[in-house]
Amino acid sequence: MPKGIDKAQIDKINKALFAAFKLDDKSDAIGGYLYLKYMYAFSRSIFQALGGDVGEPVQKVSQGTEEMVKLLVDQIITRGVSKETSVMHGKIVLPDDAKKLVTQTQDMHLIPSERMIPFKVTREVIFENPDSIALGRCMCRAVVPNPCVPPSEQNLCIWIGEPHASFIATQNEYFRKVTPRDAIQVLEDAHKAGFYHCAYFEKPAADRFNCVCNCCHCCCFGLRNWPLIGSNDNPFLAPSGYAPVVRSDACNGCGDCEKRCGFQAIKVDEATQKAVVDLDRCMGCGFCEEACPAGAIEMRLEPKLGEPFNIDALKAEAASQERG
Ligand code: SF4
Ligand code: SF4
Ligand code: SF4
Repeated sequence: MPKGIDKAQIDKINKALFAAFKLDDKSDAIGGYLYLKYMYAFSRSIFQALGGDVGEPVQKVSQGTEEMVKLLVDQIITRGVSKETSVMHGKIVLPDDAKKLVTQTQDMHLIPSERMIPFKVTREVIFENPDSIALGRCMCRAVVPNPCVPPSEQNLCIWIGEPHASFIATQNEYFRKVTPRDAIQVLEDAHKAGFYHCAYFEKPAADRFNCVCNCCHCCCFGLRNWPLIGSNDNPFLAPSGYAPVVRSDACNGCGDCEKRCGFQAIKVDEATQKAVVDLDRCMGCGFCEEACPAGAIEMRLEPKLGEPFNIDALKAEAASQERG
């Protein structure tokens, strides 16, 4: 238990976590408790269940806890992976939209359209005290055998709002409370490192948006599986809603965008020597735009890739629905 926190406060936080689950889903609160508290046992179990290699356990847990975590993982895997059933999924967000998510100050309850969050379940945006933020160790990089960054640089998961931020900061030793300004710094450093900002929605987090992760192809559970699917119609991760537009008069065919793209979604056409985007593969991450030395690429809204998870747009939509 962190210094300055007593048992009465922990009880209050536990009750708040239980209250966050809807009446019909109260039994899921046990899964939520297990997931948030023993996150690294959970990720180890899920990587193992899907045939991935794992390193030494990060969190020491009793055999009973390990069995309960495994049951939770089995339950999640059994639900299958489609946009109808997925209970843990994310959406790529560009840096400005990610920064908006960590700088909200008002409580709100918004339901994004399926164009914005294209999954049938686990998709609400509920902010309770969104300026309460917890930063902690990436549960994917913590369990893979050779992570791309050392443990000291793995603080890349930003949990937003109550009751999750307080729960995880007090009951998971790898998390601590940070300010929105700290969270912005983490996002900026992660972007410079070439990591993708992903907004995650998870059933064990009471079926709602819960965190912004900063992911990589080599360690991230969602992105490692991307090549198996090979398209942006993906049951784990939705594209950003933006896509690159190439100005062919400015493109010199250098291929830097092709080298930078982690999704093999932009290629220099042999005949024309101009870059061409594959909208079935593009995730709208924007890194090709940054890589282009000629300034020939501009990210623009692309309806084929859905709508951006932009909290201002979501609030405006909710306000116009209220006005009728
Ligand atoms: S989803 Fe990304 S940042 Fe989150 S735990 Fe996995 S790799 Fe880490
Ligand atoms: S084409 Fe550009 S925006 Fe699309 S996935 Fe590749 S790097 Fe990202
Ligand atoms: S990086 Fe720019 S100039 Fe080079 S091929 Fe890509 S779009 Fe063309």
